[in-house]
Amino acid sequence: MSDKPREYCGIFGIADHPEAALLSYYGLHSLQHRGQESAGIVTSFYDEEKKKQVMPSYKDFGLVLSVFDKPKIFKKILKGRSAIGHNRYSTSGSSKNPANIQPFRVHYRSGNIAIGHNGNLSNAKQIRESFTKEGVLFQSTSDTELILHLIAQSKKEKQLDQILDALGQIEGAFCLVILTDDALIAVRDPNGFRPLALGRIDGSYCVASETCAFDIIGAEYVRDIEAGEVLVIPHNVAEQGLSEDQLLSFNIPPKTGTTTSQCIFEYVYFSRPDSMIFGEMVDKIRRNLGKALAKEHPINEVIHKKTGTKPVIISVPDSSNTAAIGYASENQKMGHDCKYDIGLIRNHYVGRTFISPGQKSREQKVRTKFNPVKGVIEGRSVIIVDDSIVRGTTSQYLVNMIRECNPAEIHFLVSSPPIISPCYYGMDFPSPEELIANQFNGDIVAIAKEIGVDSLRYLSPNGLVEAVKEANPSPNDYCTACFTSKYPVPVNFGVDKEENELV
Ligand code: SF4
Repeated sequence: MSDKPREYCGIFGIADHPEAALLSYYGLHSLQHRGQESAGIVTSFYDEEKKKQVMPSYKDFGLVLSVFDKPKIFKKILKGRSAIGHNRYSTSGSSKNPANIQPFRVHYRSGNIAIGHNGNLSNAKQIRESFTKEGVLFQSTSDTELILHLIAQSKKEKQLDQILDALGQIEGAFCLVILTDDALIAVRDPNGFRPLALGRIDGSYCVASETCAFDIIGAEYVRDIEAGEVLVIPHNVAEQGLSEDQLLSFNIPPKTGTTTSQCIFEYVYFSRPDSMIFGEMVDKIRRNLGKALAKEHPINEVIHKKTGTKPVIISVPDSSNTAAIGYASENQKMGHDCKYDIGLIRNHYVGRTFISPGQKSREQKVRTKFNPVKGVIEGRSVIIVDDSIVRGTTSQYLVNMIRECNPAEIHFLVSSPPIISPCYYGMDFPSPEELIANQFNGDIVAIAKEIGVDSLRYLSPNGLVEAVKEANPSPNDYCTACFTSKYPVPVNFGVDKEENELV
């Protein structure tokens, strides 16, 4: 219902813990915001009856809570001390295909292997075409299946070498959790587009897209999986008592010109504020974006009317709460009288809305999710802080609702620059012509008119990068392509969404 971009996936993995599947379930639950259409867990153990290593899997469409809704799934099916899990969001066409639900699991000449992927391969089309010429049959429309084919077709003898061989051939954004009969393997692409962290619990190791997955299970954050790193965590890591620096770690050879390009949008909107990603807390960065917004657009330059009451700053909950607090506190620090208040209430229990297409129904969806607090808004100069504007439809309906509360004026401030280009590295954006900044050729005054506000202001692209680097002074760099059209890795568009679809 939201017109925000959506992430494709959240991943989790754990090695050598007696409750591997259950902890994966909790981890996935805390990563639910990274994918809501399907969820799955694969475990690994030696089956005494069958006298071989097995990899049971359980996955389905739906939220984590509804997919894993029976205790017997954990007791009878997902046995074993190592597991990987995956939450998936997909676009409408491919979401109908159950073969796209991850983790994928296959058996081939070197044993069992399962994989969960967060990201998008930028050379997927080339790889798919070359496999298609060789007569390879695909089960899914997912880039991830290509990685399994590359592993299975590698001429290398050892499984780990096959995996490293495959990883050297793929490009773009890929954070992976791979489960083999011997180990959990965590992988982050050389550009480090998506976050992936290493945690520790009871002598076992776990990996997750965001550290909020560690907090929920009581694991401690150890470090990030480095850009280009392949970390091998054996299934008996706790039994062997291995320390983190005793784990095997490899580097995927970087392609010429590859530098780190971590997704800056993870900080702006996508990751949870209570997570640490790319080595810094999201909350801290988002607060700094609000402060940078205040320095570029102090409130005394924004408001026009004298109302006799303090101007009120409200956020669009939940993702812009921290930026709005940062904006208010920096203004107060600069001596501008204002206050932060809760002017919009979000209903968290929004499931399916049974309404027909059309403008009225879209408006109803926004009303179902948000409701303004009249006492906070009436008669005041209202500054709405949001983290981003994509199509602009939600912003428009929100502003309509706020206007009904009779504010003196409404100004809209955005803690990121206008979005002008789609993402090809694992975030689902609408097409360029659907982006409101493109519809009005970047004319901010025209966009403000369309949304229905007295004025609209964005954080500048430089302001965004500087604010992030100020709060996280690591040498790693960021991708800003959706704001600047400067793509750090050339994109060879992947399979068309409906192509190769099972019916
Ligand atoms: Fe992130 Fe935008 Fe780059 Fe995609 S294009 S990786 S959303 S910064």
